[in-house]
Amino acid sequence: MNDDDGQYFYHPLDNIEDVEIFYEAVERQHLTKAISKERPYTYWTIELYDQKNGIRGGGGLGVLAADTRRVAEDTGVPFALITPFYPSEAHQKMRDGRVIDEHRPVNYRNFGFKYIDQVSVKCCDTLCSLDVVEKKFKNTRIIAITEPNFGELYSGMSGSDHRLYQEVSLGFGGYAALKLLGLKPAIMQLNEVATFFAALARLDELAHNGMDFYEAVVYTRKHTLYTNHTLVQAAEADFGYDQFERYVFPNLKSLAVKKWLKDKFVDGRIKLSSVTIEIAELRSGVSKLHARVANYRDIAGNKVKFKAITNGIDMRTWVLPEIIDFYEQKGLLDMYLSPTVDYKDKLGVITAEKIREFKNLGRAELNRVLKTRPDQYGRILEFSNEDFIFDFKRRFVDYKRPELPFSDPDRLKKILMRKNAHYILTGRVHSGDETMSAKLRKLLKLVDKDEYLKEHVHYITDYDEELAYGLSCGSNVAINVPIVGLEACGTSWMKDIANLNILISTHDGGVADGSINSYLSVSGDDESKEIDSLYQRMDEAISAYDNDFDLEFIMQKQLETFLPVISGSRMLKDYLDYLFPK
Ligand SMILES: *Cc1c(COP(=O)(O)O)cnc(C)c1O
Repeated sequence: MNDDDGQYFYHPLDNIEDVEIFYEAVERQHLTKAISKERPYTYWTIELYDQKNGIRGGGGLGVLAADTRRVAEDTGVPFALITPFYPSEAHQKMRDGRVIDEHRPVNYRNFGFKYIDQVSVKCCDTLCSLDVVEKKFKNTRIIAITEPNFGELYSGMSGSDHRLYQEVSLGFGGYAALKLLGLKPAIMQLNEVATFFAALARLDELAHNGMDFYEAVVYTRKHTLYTNHTLVQAAEADFGYDQFERYVFPNLKSLAVKKWLKDKFVDGRIKLSSVTIEIAELRSGVSKLHARVANYRDIAGNKVKFKAITNGIDMRTWVLPEIIDFYEQKGLLDMYLSPTVDYKDKLGVITAEKIREFKNLGRAELNRVLKTRPDQYGRILEFSNEDFIFDFKRRFVDYKRPELPFSDPDRLKKILMRKNAHYILTGRVHSGDETMSAKLRKLLKLVDKDEYLKEHVHYITDYDEELAYGLSCGSNVAINVPIVGLEACGTSWMKDIANLNILISTHDGGVADGSINSYLSVSGDDESKEIDSLYQRMDEAISAYDNDFDLEFIMQKQLETFLPVISGSRMLKDYLDYLFPK
């Protein structure tokens, strides 16, 4: 089997212990042909959450993409991330007790992107020009596709023409951009099915250039990794044949590929997951539990297996630098910020005194972030080192249950009163999500009715990376209570553990990679039992801060179990191990 320039890269590696050894192995086995500057690991994503570089995402999917690139930069893996640059972004603010959307223009030139050239895609009988812009970071780069009317991330309905236009532009336009830059993908990682068209563009090019169609399919399959973040295929929006006639088929040069794709429609509709499964032999889910329960069928009706590769985070981005230095100095993390072989023996250095010291530093960070972010009453909050803070920070979607801690307001109040504690709530409501807007309004009304809660429960709008960081290092306890079975992985809880917060969570997503005893878990056969369990855990967390032994025990146990899970370099190594099997 030859690839597009006659070199087959799919060599096995022996004993990849860590990224450093991986690189030695690369040298030894002349795998430099596989992943190299000209032949990078390519990562395709419709969403990137990287505000420093001018691209604001919507949630975990985008954060993961940004972190994966940063980890590649840190570990020296040649890496190209291909994504749209959206010329407009959504923000939220409060007005008269309601959250309203605001749209701001963004220009890539203000964020260090360089204009390269134009590529085009065919849509609705016209040639649409797309700008290719690029920003380099050592061995990695972001290649972005954009044009003035590209629109916003997730604007419109998910099966709409505009979404299809954005996805086709990223796939076909991004693939053309790689060629423009002289790059060939060693591997194409598709971060969810919206990026399917990138792999389709490759298949089309191979078949058009004379490779036998089936050989082209096999080749594309072997070099494509589909990373799934969604649990149920049924929930995915589909597209109609007429939409493909306008946006997709005109971009295909190979008649065989066109025929192949046309055959995949069922009753005139197509789900991108069904064809992504066909075009990607490598498939992963984002936590152990998720990979096991994700319910996907291929076109023949067989259940699809996903390899579990739990998400990690880029610790340099999300953890207080003083804490990272401490982990490194004390031998818990190595130079790639992967746990050392004997990190478990060294956890004794996490003493109550150290925890308090780091919390105080984190508190200053939180206060800095909160200076420009008033709560629902317009108050600018400032907390002392003695204040005790619970936080709930995540997108306002139903399954994450932001209202759960407010199920029994009297009990919540009693818990907070024990330490005169504060509860900070932040999370964006997806624009147009009336159910969740109503839930948020109801919750804020409930708080407003009670003099004590009014002083101690704070809702901060426009949740973003900066707030996520400030809260993970500056609060004391983080609450994460998705309905069990519905969180694919989640990464905000990882930021909390790494920053020495106590985690209270249901046993779901990546948290379920660990045992139920490794953190303060919320459980129960029905919701009322879960609520009771949640309040008990909140009480326990408060007590732990008054008992050094308990505080150390909880923090050490969390790190013992989750430090390897959290580590972004562990995640990248897992991907490399999977892509280059023995
Ligand atoms: C970390 C982070 C996320 C991830 O959230 P989960 O709910 O844990 O998936 C989402 N949004 C922002 C802004 C983040 O910083």
